[in-house]
Amino acid sequence: MFNALILEQEDGKTVATVRQLEESDLPDEEVLVDVEMSSLNYKDGLAVTGTGKIIRDFPMVPGIDFAGTVASSASDRFVPGDPVILTGWGVGERYWGGFARKARVRPEWLVPMPDGLDARKAMTIGTAGLTAMLCVMTLEEAGVKPGSGKVLVTGAAGGVGSVAVLLLSRLGYEVTAQSGRPETRDFLAGLGASDFVSRDEMNEPCRPLETQRWAGAIDVTGGTILARVLAEMNYGGAVAACGLAASFKLETTVMPFILRNVSLRGVDSVYCPIERRTEAWRRLAQELPDSAFDEIGTVIGLGDVPQAAANIIAGKIKGRTLVDPNL
Ligand code: NDP
Repeated sequence: MFNALILEQEDGKTVATVRQLEESDLPDEEVLVDVEMSSLNYKDGLAVTGTGKIIRDFPMVPGIDFAGTVASSASDRFVPGDPVILTGWGVGERYWGGFARKARVRPEWLVPMPDGLDARKAMTIGTAGLTAMLCVMTLEEAGVKPGSGKVLVTGAAGGVGSVAVLLLSRLGYEVTAQSGRPETRDFLAGLGASDFVSRDEMNEPCRPLETQRWAGAIDVTGGTILARVLAEMNYGGAVAACGLAASFKLETTVMPFILRNVSLRGVDSVYCPIERRTEAWRRLAQELPDSAFDEIGTVIGLGDVPQAAANIIAGKIKGRTLVDPNL
């Protein structure tokens, strides 16, 4: 028997309870993984609180990412003892996920643990950190270089934002952090941000073109903030957009695109091809200093997940929250 967080529907509401499961309760997939660590992402917050229609079939074990060790495998890609990471592919949404001590999954969803990482480090990064790295790679591919000018990270104190600030500063970019929480300024400065802008300032309605400020931007918010970011981009600048923490809407004009050659590039981590995600994990292992893992991550147990899920939706989580299913 092992512990798992189970989501069920009661009177149209999502209810989360820690229950005991047996291996035979798990889905019939090829690889059984002993989960050592999972993490709480914004999407898990939506799923566990029932805020977004993330889960369609109940009961469901949420947890969109995890790291652990292969316990048994019917696939020749993995053998027992292999350390692995899983993020995305609909796990924790359509398929049972990482908020449990065991998970049975498809081999093509698993990435071998890169050298230099362990389960705790990998989940300090998690889906949020992988997405941050994919955003950084997207800006690099768009020609945004460390000497190009200031790079803005929105929602900087959150999971994606905090790893993005750290990665960009480690790579030599001049990083401005946008946050709605002034009390996170020391935390963000510690990650390498050299300048700060407030949420209120970036939420001000904007003209089609504003004074040019940013060579690049990583946006997790969408909505009014993204519209202003676009209007403030330097000539030839690029924005990597990956989130909707403020809104899924975007009211903007074509002016930044046609008069300033700005590009807006979407970033998805869920169905990111395996070659690109493997490269992103390799670079994460290479770029992040050991000290970053203690600074950014906080560990909770399965029973703490419902409260933490409410907090992440309320924008109250700083950095990354790890979920240890063995606690
Ligand atoms: P977090 O909750 O950890 O961070 C989100 C941050 O956004 C908050 O910390 C806050 O930052 C800011 N924020 C929250 N609400 C608002 C608001 N109403 N207006 C402006 N800013 C706000 O979530 P994650 O970092 O895990 O995820 C961020 C976004 O990225 C989510 O929308 C998520 O769905 C998306 N995402 C997308 C992925 C993809 O594959 N495309 C993968 C992972 C995440 P602060 O306090 O600094 O203002």
